[in-house]
Amino acid sequence: VRYHPALREAHVAHTALADQLRAAVEAGAGSQATHAFAGFAMHYQPVVDVPTGRVTAVEALLRFTTPGGIAVSPAVFIPVAEEIGLIGKLGSWVLEQSCADAKAWHDEHGISVTVNVSGRQLRNPHFADEVLAVLKRTGLPGAALVLEITETVLVTASLEETAEVSRRLARLRAFGIRIAIDDFGTGYSSLAYLRTLPLDVLKIDRAFVHRIEERQDQALFRAVVELARSMYLTPVAEGVETAGQAAVLRSLDCALAQGFLFARPMPAPALAEFLQQERVAAAAVAA
Ligand code: C2E
Ligand code: MG
Ligand code: MG
Ligand code: MG
Repeated sequence: VRYHPALREAHVAHTALADQLRAAVEAGAGSQATHAFAGFAMHYQPVVDVPTGRVTAVEALLRFTTPGGIAVSPAVFIPVAEEIGLIGKLGSWVLEQSCADAKAWHDEHGISVTVNVSGRQLRNPHFADEVLAVLKRTGLPGAALVLEITETVLVTASLEETAEVSRRLARLRAFGIRIAIDDFGTGYSSLAYLRTLPLDVLKIDRAFVHRIEERQDQALFRAVVELARSMYLTPVAEGVETAGQAAVLRSLDCALAQGFLFARPMPAPALAEFLQQERVAAAAVAA
């Protein structure tokens, strides 16, 4: 096979990344420590109640830095980790670390943590047991955990697999865990799975939020919010970057939002400080 030079470069980069991911996960294998995976770290981004400005949850977002110090986007390395069979171990670490970090924030501030889960993880028959074991170990109550899944979970699954994933999620919901559908509106089967999966939260992709101040986009956004409500799902707007967008959300009664306007994803110590300052600010307003 003869590769176009650019293609060859991409292939080499892909292989190098795969090797780096593997090495980072292997370096932590067998260790129980939650900080075991060199190069990986969790960042947390607040989800805000727009009318009050209060943080109700944080989304856990995985970060990877190569040994050479280059930060790679999860949009790039997660698909590679899935492809080379690393997502199981990596996903377990993400879940454990996120719940461990969130325990204190939940106790002190009453907030939840939302964790992204890949389709491969969901299709693992032991997934529900694993999640419940993590809750037990970390002491985080089920009601403080939200699992975020994307519709690609169903696009690539057979009917039978879909039914199994649904049963698995239903079992977790019985423990108070909530299920969110992520990036809503960007995939293929946007509506069909809304009645297939047991869901609680609908995260509206930032593509719908981006030009929300324009009339047509606003109509579309409003329709999605109403759809969510009619199915008893809580809508959350993703990628809110401007005060104008937040004002429109308020007028449309979509209270929950996430985006650079409110806060960027940050490491655990910075998030702890962010929550502390928020509490101080609230106390000052109340005084
Ligand atoms: P996502 O779950 O939809 O996460 C939201 C993404 O939007 C994050 O990108 C976040 O940094 C970004 N974002 C938040 N607010 C804004 C904003 O106002 N403007 C813009 N332009 N972007 C904003 P990030 O961290 O790069 O993650 C990308 C995707 O990678 C995530 O999308 C999720 O699908 C995946 N991912 C991240 N961490 C994990 C993980 O631990 N496990 C799995 N399976 N997937 C993960
Ligand atoms: Mg997400
Ligand atoms: Mg999303
Ligand atoms: Mg996304």
